Amino acid sequence: MSKRVLLAAPRGYCAGVDRAVVAVEKSLELYGAPVYVRKEIVHNKHVVSTLEKRGVIFVNETDEVPEGATVVFSAHGVSPAVHEAAAARNLKTIDATCPLVTKVHNEVKRFADDETEILLIGHNGHEEVEGTAGEAPGKVRIVDGLEEARTIQPTPGKKLVWLTQTTLSVDETMQSVAILKDRFPEIANPPSDDICYATQNRQEAIKAIAPQADLVIVVGSTNSSNSVRLVEVALEYGAKAAYLVDYAAEVKDEWFVGVETIGVTSGASVPEILVDDLLKHLAKNGFGDVEEVRATEETLLFALPKELRADLKSAKQ
Ligand code: SF4
Repeated sequence: MSKRVLLAAPRGYCAGVDRAVVAVEKSLELYGAPVYVRKEIVHNKHVVSTLEKRGVIFVNETDEVPEGATVVFSAHGVSPAVHEAAAARNLKTIDATCPLVTKVHNEVKRFADDETEILLIGHNGHEEVEGTAGEAPGKVRIVDGLEEARTIQPTPGKKLVWLTQTTLSVDETMQSVAILKDRFPEIANPPSDDICYATQNRQEAIKAIAPQADLVIVVGSTNSSNSVRLVEVALEYGAKAAYLVDYAAEVKDEWFVGVETIGVTSGASVPEILVDDLLKHLAKNGFGDVEEVRATEETLLFALPKELRADLKSAKQ
């Protein structure tokens, strides 16, 4: 039996996560600990616990931050109500919202008017969806999954437009859109794709590997939407089994029984060190032969949040 690992590329950190994590690290250097962050800066256990050890205090809401202190908003974005609450407490804010999430916020602002209802395809309760919907309270309806696409009853007499969360399954979203278009042929399309490049590329890479894989291991946290989608996509495209793990130590020996080919990937909020640990663990179990399967190259980088850039510049002078 020839054992091998097919390693998906691209995998791991996207430009939005990299920017958000560096924004917190630079804030720690510049302002000193503690730095407050509203919600998990990105949905990854390891990243959050590493930053906590360095002096970051994660809070759920801005009213937990001392008046006048600095708070960083996470990559998932916040609604205008959160900005207002922070201003009311005189907080200094560093907004690490991913620019690709901001793009969807801007679409909501552009389409929201008294005649239009926005159908936002996404997961109910996810921070990104709460922030995006909060741009136009009362004018956005969430469509969470195919069943809701089949059953949602928009407000009669309204024009409709659909938008999406950035980290969904591309295929399932297109099915939801097809259902909505079938039911409401006049529904308008967004100006461009809302599912971000990183989500799409990581799904393409695992799709190329899954049909050959007896087992796929996705490194990522359970609250990471794009990571969970990678497990689903792997199974949909033929992987015999697929699991999500935060750490290599969570891999179970019984997963290896009868397995020749293991596919490995990681979500957009996962540092590469966790994939390296997993590959070492697999090598110890006879899977030392690793071949990278690349779907595409990624070169996108985002500048740091403007408030932080300004402070870094003044600190240098
Ligand atoms: S997954 Fe996409 S939307 Fe989310 S932070 Fe990364 S690039 Fe931005």
